[in-house]
Amino acid sequence: MDINSSASNHYKIICLGCHADVSGAGYALRCGCDHALLRTVYRDSRLAVTAEDSMWRFAAWLPTVDKLPTRGRSVTYKSEAFARELGLSDLFISFNGYWPERNAFLETCSFKELESPPTVQRAVESKVKTLVVSSVGNTARAFAHTVSTTSTDLKLVLVGLESAIGKLWLPEPPSENITLVVLQRGNDYSDAIALGDRLVALPGLTPEGGAMNVARRDGMGTVMLEAAVAIGRAPDHYFQAVGSGTGGIAAWEASLRLKHDGRFLEGPLPKLHLSQNLPFAPMVSAWNACRRTIDPSIDMPDAKKSIAKIHADVLSNRNPAYSVKGGVFDALKSTNGQMYAVSNSEARRAARFFEDLEGIDIVPAAAVAAASLIQAVAHGGIDDSDVVLLNVTGGGAQKLKEDKSCYQIKPDICLASPEADLSELREVLI
Ligand SMILES: [Zn+2]
Repeated sequence: MDINSSASNHYKIICLGCHADVSGAGYALRCGCDHALLRTVYRDSRLAVTAEDSMWRFAAWLPTVDKLPTRGRSVTYKSEAFARELGLSDLFISFNGYWPERNAFLETCSFKELESPPTVQRAVESKVKTLVVSSVGNTARAFAHTVSTTSTDLKLVLVGLESAIGKLWLPEPPSENITLVVLQRGNDYSDAIALGDRLVALPGLTPEGGAMNVARRDGMGTVMLEAAVAIGRAPDHYFQAVGSGTGGIAAWEASLRLKHDGRFLEGPLPKLHLSQNLPFAPMVSAWNACRRTIDPSIDMPDAKKSIAKIHADVLSNRNPAYSVKGGVFDALKSTNGQMYAVSNSEARRAARFFEDLEGIDIVPAAAVAAASLIQAVAHGGIDDSDVVLLNVTGGGAQKLKEDKSCYQIKPDICLASPEADLSELREVLI
């Protein structure tokens, strides 16, 4: 089924800049407006939830026709020990990772695995042949897992870093449809993005799109949907660490849809509490200065040096979806939101605290979010009776490695810099 008929089925894709309907434009990431995100508008404003035990239970609010097999979904549970320590009566954890005892089966241990199934499915339905994904770890694992565990013919080019190669493991043998390109040591995440941008100029290669891709955002938005269904209402507060900002935008967009539905949200939208890891926190710096635009000289001086120091390296995006219309700045404005800067030691302490009390290991980015919640409580920003949702964006990797064998994705080619000559790479890709 092609995208035109799918679009007429249950969703439309609209540009937030000029309000054009780009539903028939295949794997569209923007409409031509320079500085605006696209957004999905679903036919049913009332959320229909099926009995499926996967993220596809929210298929009515996902921009695909068919469903790629996945066992993964976000899981929401009420915290007891961590909540008690913080003095909160209604703290809910959105756990996105591997924790069989809680029915959590995101086997790459990250909420990026909520993005990859709808994105790959949308790409296939849009007749994309090869998708390019730049990632230092979680996103690459998620997309590789989706391609390796389904019968899709989609080819995947992963652009990563030699220094982060250890993070590119899978709980199954990698598909032959995956090509891994890495940049030598000394490069960072934004260099991988820059190389990915060059690759998509080659014939037949399509960028997955990051925050611009409605399938990624709506996949991630299932975190908020799952929580609202599990709790019976949308939370008052939503805590998450952000690198590109995609997850924060997705939570906001899901909240807008829930508000429109009317059953889960009567008052204000859930307040976004978004955090970054010091010393690299460009969005925190711009937001606290009430600026819509990130000024690199003010908000991320010595970016490379700062990035090399942060504990949660997935939060190191130098070009986040902050100022774009429909991006993080708008999400924070719309929800009366707030940003937090978290030091490495605060994050490590929060991780230990969380693991001891909740009984599961969490990834550094989730530790940054947990630390921001501790900050918010300490500063009196949360009422004891408020309903709080902490998005644990990844966890359970230690548990998974005890339960399963893991397989390394091996690089097909290693390049010196994002400006490197691509002729050798072209041969690998042909
Ligand atoms: Zn437009």
